[in-house]
Amino acid sequence: MGVTGSKENVTKKPVVVVVGGGYGGVKCAQSLDKSGQFFVVLIDRKSYFLHNIATLRACVEKNYANQIMIPYDRVLTNGCVVHAEVVSISSNGVFVHGYDQPIHFNYLVIATGSSYAFPGKVADPQRNQALSRYSTMREEIYKAQQILVIGGGPVGIELCGEIATDFPNKEITLVHGGSTLLQPNVFREEMYTNLQRQLQHMGVKILLNDRIKVASTDNAKPPVNYIRGKQTYVTENNKQSVTADLTFICTGARVNNKSLMMSDLADKVDTQSGRLKVNGYLQVEGHTNIFAIGDISNKESKMGYYAGNQGEYVASLIPIIERNKPYPKEYQPGQYPAMFVTLGRKGGVGQMPTKNGFIVGNTLVKLLKSKDMGTSRTQSMMNYKAHSLDESLSDHPSAYSHKLLSLKECMELTEKDAEELLAGLPEKQIELGQDFV
Ligand SMILES: Cc1cc2nc3c(=O)[nH]c(=O)nc-3n(C[C@H](O)[C@H](O)[C@H](O)COP(=O)(O)OP(=O)(O)OC[C@H]3O[C@@H](n4cnc5c(N)ncnc54)[C@H](O)[C@@H]3O)c2cc1C
Repeated sequence: MGVTGSKENVTKKPVVVVVGGGYGGVKCAQSLDKSGQFFVVLIDRKSYFLHNIATLRACVEKNYANQIMIPYDRVLTNGCVVHAEVVSISSNGVFVHGYDQPIHFNYLVIATGSSYAFPGKVADPQRNQALSRYSTMREEIYKAQQILVIGGGPVGIELCGEIATDFPNKEITLVHGGSTLLQPNVFREEMYTNLQRQLQHMGVKILLNDRIKVASTDNAKPPVNYIRGKQTYVTENNKQSVTADLTFICTGARVNNKSLMMSDLADKVDTQSGRLKVNGYLQVEGHTNIFAIGDISNKESKMGYYAGNQGEYVASLIPIIERNKPYPKEYQPGQYPAMFVTLGRKGGVGQMPTKNGFIVGNTLVKLLKSKDMGTSRTQSMMNYKAHSLDESLSDHPSAYSHKLLSLKECMELTEKDAEELLAGLPEKQIELGQDFV
């Protein structure tokens, strides 16, 4: 672990610490960094941004994972990215593994997001470890003949679509507890029936109104893993037997709230949802300088797109608060549900964010999502081009001294502490369920 980023920054500026470099955290950190008015410190355990909207493509397409794990080193110009495991987030400071001082801030943006069973998301600190996981995953899918996907939400559907597109001869079964795919109270009938029809046409067997309980072994414990090796299950309702060489658990995300639970912010976590309670300005209840955005917050549907919007909003609000100007309009959450669910590279079904939930089909979904999965756009956001993702990166000596100086000046650190952060903090072994309670 270590620190990357930073160019010119020698004058003391208010410090904004952003915890979590996902869709929300990166957008927020970048916008504030560009404004030049703040010293931004983005903390993430990973050395790369995970474009997890496209992780399921990485399970079937060789070397695709390389395109969607994008190093953080070009994301900030003035601030820096600290690669560290956050162990506790409090209103007084952020505590990271291997560093005994709290990291202080003037403003704090909590964007720790959510965890999902692999291959939906991955938490390895090093890019190479994560790349090798997806490479192994692809080989395992290639070798497996019978595949079971548990959960017929967007992730389960997209995973079936990817596998069925690239490996049309596999026997794929999708088991879902609901009477329809997706959430019928949120999405229009045309959306989920169309997805079901297309998946069946691709050869996916769909069992609705039924469940499969996986043994609670470490290997199976959601949301961290998939299950390898032949297993025969019996569904709970209809007692159908399903045999699979590979079993995927796509039953939903878990909120990354563990780092809040031992601090004074614990009582700001909603006991039902596990998410931080925020007001209309995305401020954590009772705090004017602490914000929560994306999957960790209790505002809006849980989507990368909305996390980014929230990040931009907070980045526009912080300078206003800093200058003591009147507060602007509250954050406006998306009014209507919207989602594009892909079925491999060539299509899928989408519901537009309009009052009547206009449904779009393969052509538009292919154009807007499934062909590229937003990968090029995400690479540009991270200031990368596909071909440069393999370049080895190291700091120019002058960049290093700027970081050191910025950390010392803005965060009032001693030379030794700044050097310690820059030198890299020890990684923490990843554990099952490490991020949520
Ligand atoms: C397979 C899949 C497909 C999806 N497809 C879509 C889609 O098509 N469109 C869409 O809008 N949404 C999609 N989503 C949902 C979307 O991915 C989430 O809503 C989004 O990731 C939320 O962004 P975030 O910034 O809140 O958090 P995250 O993206 O979860 O990022 C959180 C960051 O915090 C870091 N972090 C967490 N805890 C710690 C810690 N203790 N120490 C250090 N770092 C930490 C993590 O490493 C991570 O980088 C999909 C989700 C999945 C799983």
